[in-house]
Amino acid sequence: MTEKQQKQRIVVVGGGFGGVKTALELAKHHELFEVTLVSDRPDFWYFPTLYHTATGGTRAQSSIALKYLFKNTGVRIVAGKAVKLDRETKVVTLADKTPVPYDKLVLALGVVTNYFGIPGLPEYSFGIKSIGEAEELKRHLHKQILDEGKPDLNYVVVGGGPTGIELSGALGEYLHFIMKQHHIKDRPVHIDLVENSPRLMPRMPKPVGKAIERHLRHLGVKLYLGKAVQGETADELTVSGKPIRSHTVIWTAGQANNSFFSDNMFALSPRKKVVVDEFLRTEKDIFVVGDNAETMYSGMAQTAVYDAEFIAHNFVKEAENEPKLAYRPKKPVYVMPAGPRWAAVEWGKTHMYGKLGWFLREAGDFVAFTDIEPLPQAALQWAHTLQDQHLCSVCGAVA
Ligand SMILES: Cc1cc2nc3c(=O)[nH]c(=O)nc-3n(C[C@H](O)[C@H](O)[C@H](O)COP(=O)(O)OP(=O)(O)OC[C@H]3O[C@@H](n4cnc5c(N)ncnc54)[C@H](O)[C@@H]3O)c2cc1C
Repeated sequence: MTEKQQKQRIVVVGGGFGGVKTALELAKHHELFEVTLVSDRPDFWYFPTLYHTATGGTRAQSSIALKYLFKNTGVRIVAGKAVKLDRETKVVTLADKTPVPYDKLVLALGVVTNYFGIPGLPEYSFGIKSIGEAEELKRHLHKQILDEGKPDLNYVVVGGGPTGIELSGALGEYLHFIMKQHHIKDRPVHIDLVENSPRLMPRMPKPVGKAIERHLRHLGVKLYLGKAVQGETADELTVSGKPIRSHTVIWTAGQANNSFFSDNMFALSPRKKVVVDEFLRTEKDIFVVGDNAETMYSGMAQTAVYDAEFIAHNFVKEAENEPKLAYRPKKPVYVMPAGPRWAAVEWGKTHMYGKLGWFLREAGDFVAFTDIEPLPQAALQWAHTLQDQHLCSVCGAVA
């Protein structure tokens, strides 16, 4: 056998946090593995800064080309959407019918937006789950103020999780900035945050959620807690039976697992995530990392990166006939920005608020970039995110 034939073919599907990190880690062992990354888009998206992109930041803050990330790594990038899995022949088939054979398969497909069947939301609400959606929202904010010469009656953010909190905290300052940039008389803006459960961030300890609530109220955000969205029309949102007049509703409240798993008959948990064992394996030679896996802390980028490192470690150990590790969930550090230069942090048993929290968030972004890029490039990417959101050139570009 040649050296090449002895290598295991690892196919990683998904070019997000879990997939990119898995492929990068395995690529360090090119003597053992031949790594292929299948991705349905050419860029890696850094979700935590998407709200910046929607509120004045640039596309470059939130996206990095995969071909740039994998330059000189030996990883083969295949563009396409995985649609079908043949377990017998060990082949993933893409939408254009390209077959991708594997010895081991790692799935990291992320989640998709879920509107829970609420009428009007797919047609009228804005999203913030992709670069395209973030840019569409930014264009809308500008166009509306320019066309009408004043802000919308209400800006309604739905979902009191991290994305809804970040966005509702950042919107006010940005809307005032747009009016200033376009020489439009400054007027008050009304921002509403609607959350189904009785408090924000139910996953975090109560004092942290309460501190975020106080800070958002201090910024002028009106909180609708324990209120359910029932429908949206072109002019209003119905929340627990009452209408809120708005042409700007931003839906951040619902996620569903990628349909690849139900289409291909994977074993799913009650919350429709993929059931995995202590090696993050769901079936023979098929592994799942990140948001798709039923693990204690899935749903966070930090968990996806942790899972990827775990998987890569075990693949190497297995290839070298050494004992593998069993998965131990790692609690992420929760850092929740809520408005300019303010963030709440839950780090183990420690809670922090304010500017220190904000500083930790910036530091956390830097660490996250070093997870996927060499230090100089990570520093450059990080510098992008530090840029003042209120760059005149950006506003000019979208106006
Ligand atoms: C707006 C927003 C803000 C967030 N902020 C934070 C934060 O501050 N901190 C934090 O820890 N987490 C945050 N998260 C969560 C974090 O982004 C996710 O937990 C993380 O992205 C999960 O990584 P993943 O690899 O499982 O999936 P993703 O990063 O979503 O990657 C999935 C990839 O698979 C691709 N794909 C999907 N289907 C197919 C297919 N059939 N074939 C080929 N490719 C496919 C997708 O295009 C995508 O590139 C945020 C999420 C959002 C939406």
